[in-house]
Amino acid sequence: MNRVYLSSPHMSGRELQLVQDAFATNWIAPLGPHVDAFEREFAAWVGMPHAAALSSGTAALHLAAMLLGVEAGDEVVCSSLTFSATANAITYCGAQPVFIDCDAVSWNMDPDLLEAELERCARAGKLPRAVLAVDLYGQCADYTRIVPICERFGVTLIEDAAEALGATCAGRPAGSYGRAAAFSFNGNKIITTSGGGMLVSSDEALIKRARFLATQARDPAPHYQHTAIGYNYRMSNVLAAIGRGQLTVLDERVAARRANFDAYAAALGELPGVEFMPEAPYGRCTRWLTCLTIDPVAFGATREDVRLALEAENIESRPIWKPMHLQPVFASCRAVGGAVSAQIFEHGLCLPSGSNLAVADRNRVIEIVGRCCGTVRT
Ligand SMILES: *Cc1c(COP(=O)(O)O)cnc(C)c1O
Repeated sequence: MNRVYLSSPHMSGRELQLVQDAFATNWIAPLGPHVDAFEREFAAWVGMPHAAALSSGTAALHLAAMLLGVEAGDEVVCSSLTFSATANAITYCGAQPVFIDCDAVSWNMDPDLLEAELERCARAGKLPRAVLAVDLYGQCADYTRIVPICERFGVTLIEDAAEALGATCAGRPAGSYGRAAAFSFNGNKIITTSGGGMLVSSDEALIKRARFLATQARDPAPHYQHTAIGYNYRMSNVLAAIGRGQLTVLDERVAARRANFDAYAAALGELPGVEFMPEAPYGRCTRWLTCLTIDPVAFGATREDVRLALEAENIESRPIWKPMHLQPVFASCRAVGGAVSAQIFEHGLCLPSGSNLAVADRNRVIEIVGRCCGTVRT
C-alpha cells in the first residue's frame, strides 16, 4: 500500500507551464516577473494592497516582527497552541514570547485571557510590543474581539496566517486583520511552492522595507553599500511561478479540504468521546487539517492508539501541535493559562487531509479509526 500522507502537495497542472516560462526567459533568480505577478495576485486574493514574496513563512514572521519594532527586551504576546515558527520569530528579534492559552470554541488565542493580560501589563506599566495571533489549522482567531482589544491598549497586531489562507473572519480574509500578516507555502500547506512565504500589509513602506531587507539590504549604489543588516529571504522566480498556478485553484482546494472534514465528521462524529475542532461562529474555516480529540475513557482507546493503528496501515496522522508553554526551549517564558491547549494536545489528532486525498483512502482512515473504538487495553 502506498503511504497516505497528512497533507501532500497538489499541483493543478498549470504550474509547469508557468515554470517553463521562467526557464524560457531565464529568470532563474530570487527576482523576476513571476515574483512581481505572484505578489500582485496574492495581495488581490487576500484583499491587501501590498505583498512581499519570501523564502518562507518564518521569514515573513521575522520581518513582520522586526519591521513593527520588536526588539531585544520586548515582550510579544502570542498563541501557545501553534507551530514553533511563530514563537521562534519573536526570539529572532531578541524578544520574549508570552504564551496565551486558546479557547475551546476556536482553538485560537482566548480573547478574554488576552484582555486580562494586557490589563495586567498596562497596570504594571509595561505593555508588550505586539500581539502575534495565530490562525490555527485553517481557522481565524476571533478578530472581532482581538482587534478592538489591541486598539484599546495601542498594541500592534501581527497575524500568523500561515495555516489559514482562504479562511475568513466576519467575511474578511485571514491575513487582513493585522498591521502585517504572514503566509506559508511550505509543502504541506493548502497551496505550496515547495517552500515559500508571503508578507502582506496595507502599509506600503513596510512592504518596500521588507523587500529591501530580504535582498541583503543593498543601498541604491553600484558598489554594494549597506546601512542595515540584511537577509537572504526573497522568493525565487521559479517558485513564484508555481505559486501563481496554485493560487488559481485555491477555492477548489478549500472546498476539497472542507469535503474531507464533512466526510470524517459524518462518519466518526457520533462515536463516543470523539469531538472535532469546532468551526467558530464568526468565520469560515478552510479545514486545512481535520482535527479531532479523543476522550480515551469514552472512546475506549487513546489518541496514540489511533495514531499507531493508522501508522500500521502506512497512514500518516499527527498529534495536535505541542503547545509552546510546554516546550522545553520556552520553559522560562511566561504563560497565561494553558490547561485548554494542554488538554487538546493530549487528546488531539490530525487526520489525513490533503485536497488530493483519494476517497478510498479516506474511507480506510474512517474504517481504522472506527475499529479502534472500544478496543480498550487492560
Ligand atoms: C507552517 C507554519 C509557519 C512557518 O512557515 P514556513 O513556510 O514553514 O516557514 C509559521 N506558523 C505556522 C502556524 C505554521 O503552521
